[in-house]
Amino acid sequence: MKYLSEYREPKIIKSLISEIKNTLTKEWNIMEVCGGQTHSLLKYGFDEIFQPKINYVHGPGCPVCVTSVELIDKVIYLSQKQNTIITSFGDMLRVPGSDSDLLHQKSIGADIRVVYSPMNALEIAENNINKEVVFFAVGFETTAPLIASTVDLAYNKNIKNFSIICANVIVPPAVEFVLSDKESKIDGLLAPGHVCTITGLKDYVNISDEYKIPVVITGFEPYDLLQGTLNCIKLLEKKKFAVVNKYTRSVTQNGNKKAIEIMNSVFKIVDRNWRGIGIIPNSGLELKENYTSFNAENKFKIPEFSKSEEKECISGLILRGLKKPYECKYFGKECTPENPFGATMVSSEGACAAYFKHKVNYNNQN
Ligand code: SF4
Repeated sequence: MKYLSEYREPKIIKSLISEIKNTLTKEWNIMEVCGGQTHSLLKYGFDEIFQPKINYVHGPGCPVCVTSVELIDKVIYLSQKQNTIITSFGDMLRVPGSDSDLLHQKSIGADIRVVYSPMNALEIAENNINKEVVFFAVGFETTAPLIASTVDLAYNKNIKNFSIICANVIVPPAVEFVLSDKESKIDGLLAPGHVCTITGLKDYVNISDEYKIPVVITGFEPYDLLQGTLNCIKLLEKKKFAVVNKYTRSVTQNGNKKAIEIMNSVFKIVDRNWRGIGIIPNSGLELKENYTSFNAENKFKIPEFSKSEEKECISGLILRGLKKPYECKYFGKECTPENPFGATMVSSEGACAAYFKHKVNYNNQN
C-alpha cells in the first residue's frame, strides 16, 4: 500500500471484519497499548463491532495522562519564578496539578509558551539569554531521542540558561506492570507501532515469552488495527503466542539505531511515578551525570510537593485496563474535556476523552 486512503479502503476493511468474525470462536480481552490506537478503535466503532467476542482493554500508552501531579506542581512552581520561561507541548497546559494547571498560571501572567519540539525551546533559550528557559519533557520513546539530541546540542553549544524537567517514560515496564496485576485478564496485546519504530521488537519478544501472550505490533489506521486484531486472535484461537510485526512500513527488528544511541548516551533509566498507577520500576528516563546541569530539578531549589491526585477519579484503573471511562460516575457529567478532573479527559490521547468524543451514547446515558 502506498497512500493513506488505502489503509481506510472500505472494501478491504469489510473483508477484514468478516475474516475476524469468522475466526472468532471464543471471547478475548485484547489490550491496545497506545492512546492513539484507542481513539482510532472508537472512532471506527471496532470496539462494538466484535462484541461480545472481543473486549478491547485500553492501555497506559498516553504520556500526558501518566505524568505525575508532583512533576506538574514542580513546573508550576518554576513558572512562578521571575525571569523564567516555561516551554511545553500544548497538551500539558490543561492537565491538573494539585491546585492549579499551567494554563491558569499563564492566564495570571506566567511566561509559558507552547512549543512543537524541544528544539523550539532551545531556540527560545538562545534568544533570551537573560532568562532561564525550562522545557517540560514529556513523552515515550518516540520523543525521547529528540529531547536527548536537544540536550546534547545545548551541552555542545555551552548554553547555560536551558534545562528540562524530565517526565519521560518508557512503555515496556508499564506493560509488564499491567500484565502482572493479579486482576489483569488480558489475553493479547496490540503494541504501539510508533514506539517500536524507535526501539525495535526486542522488549516485546521478552514480554510475549514471559507472559505467554501474542503481541502484534500495530499502527493506527483502520487497516492496521484490524490486521493487528486478526493476527492476535489467530494466535489466541490456536493457543499460540509470538510477536508479529504488522507495522512493517515503519518498524524493523532492531529499531532506529541512531535514535537508540542518542537516548542511551543522554538518559539513564530510573524508577518513575505514573499518575494514577504509582511507582513503576525502571520506567522513567533521567539525564545522565554529564548532563546534570540541564536537569531543572538540580539547577533550581524546588520544594518537594505532595503527590495528591484527584479524589475519586478512576483514571489510574482505566490506564491499567481494569475499568472503562463510562464506569466513572463523573464521566460526561462533572468531568468533560472543558472541565477535566483527570488527565485521561484532558489529553488528546486519553481514554476518557476518546469515549467523550466518539461515544455519544455513553455521554447521553451518563
Ligand atoms: S471521567 Fe474524569 S474523573 Fe472519571 S476517570 Fe475519566 S478523567 Fe477521571
